[in-house]
Amino acid sequence: MPPKNNNKIYKKMAYKINPDLCASCGTCAGECPQEAISEGTPYSINPDLCIECGACADVCPCEAISLE
Ligand code: SF4
Ligand code: SF4
Repeated sequence: MPPKNNNKIYKKMAYKINPDLCASCGTCAGECPQEAISEGTPYSINPDLCIECGACADVCPCEAISLE
């Protein structure tokens, strides 16, 4: 009998901005309590600063931000 799959993957989840969807509106950056989001085309999230609160994803009008 094969062993159960106990290989838990502990890779850190992180919020990411999908560059194909981001309209560079800046709404997310204004909501981030960590100032983890940098202006640009597209905007980007610094994973070292992000505390995964989800505030940015909630306000993005383009649904460009997701937890990966
Ligand atoms: S709120 Fe969404 S569309 Fe606007 S800059 Fe942020 S990721 Fe891009
Ligand atoms: S999840 Fe929270 S801390 Fe991370 S980038 Fe979005 S608003 Fe900032």
